[in-house]
Amino acid sequence: MLSNDNEKQLILIVDDVPKNLQVLGSVLKQEGHRIAFAKSGELALNYVSERRPDIILLDIMMPGMDGYEVCKKLKEHQETRDIPVIFITALGDADDEYRGFELGGVDYITKPFNPKIVKARVKNHLRLKRKTDLLESLAAIDGLTDIPNRRRFDEVFEKEWGRAVRASESLSLIMIDIDFFKKFNDNYGHAAGDECLRSVAQAMVNTLQRSADFVARYGGEEFVVILPETEIEGAVHIAEKIRLNIEKLKISHAENQVADHVTLSLGAASIIPKRNTSSLILIEAADKCLYEAKEGGRNQVKSQADSGIRK
Ligand code: GH3
Ligand code: MG
Ligand code: MG
Repeated sequence: MLSNDNEKQLILIVDDVPKNLQVLGSVLKQEGHRIAFAKSGELALNYVSERRPDIILLDIMMPGMDGYEVCKKLKEHQETRDIPVIFITALGDADDEYRGFELGGVDYITKPFNPKIVKARVKNHLRLKRKTDLLESLAAIDGLTDIPNRRRFDEVFEKEWGRAVRASESLSLIMIDIDFFKKFNDNYGHAAGDECLRSVAQAMVNTLQRSADFVARYGGEEFVVILPETEIEGAVHIAEKIRLNIEKLKISHAENQVADHVTLSLGAASIIPKRNTSSLILIEAADKCLYEAKEGGRNQVKSQADSGIRK
């Protein structure tokens, strides 16, 4: 899940003058970077909506949308907010430079530029970008199981909730809890408990097939699955598949009162969310179903369809 350290970083150069693109491009290519070009602000934003450059070198004076405007747009969107922007411009005035920093630029280089200085500055910013990316991915991953953590779940869930609202589509959630896990720890030791959590997490990851499906460690021995564009029947199907795949691991659990191996209880809920509805209601609904699965004898899936909870 972490980005590959050796992967070449991608630089987007934006300038309306082809000659400038060419000069900057050839300077930076020598450093072994991947380079992309855009000859207007509009084309730069188009490009960024498809691919994520690691840094943008942005001319200010361009016909149509100018560099300040492009930078402002980039900072408005969560997905592009963190791409460092270096302004490269003929505007040498201190006020222009200050405006660039105010808009969130990380650096400001005036034309005519010295290629060696441009290279050095870009190199510094790319190094920082690589470190920031690494820290961010580490902060989103659970240290024990190597799957996304609760913090990452919160982010992804909010994003999927918003998407489902806009598209009027179903969003499903499965809450999952290992049965009698305290007894597992008591019986086999905490290290074996940790190993079990890793195996269970990996089996869940392997069970999910669609790229938008998402699993995180919710806390302790609890996990959560987000299934975008999925109705309750689909969610129950996936939940059942997860339940079976964990059973298939046949991890011995002598103190489990419902089987002789590790089992799960799962609660599945689904909703077509409306604007101004709190996303908490889906979490609470799935939690309630999980509780019913525990009450109903564990090692099973319960859903809204069973309990009559409806949106
Ligand atoms: P139930 O079937 O009702 O879910 O019973 P349970 O014992 O699984 O539930 P309970 O919430 O009482 O206990 C959860 C246990 O999970 C307690 C704790 O020892 C264990 N646990 C939580 N996090 C970790 C962890 O990171 N590593 C290990 N080894 N155990 C953990
Ligand atoms: Mg629990
Ligand atoms: Mg439990």
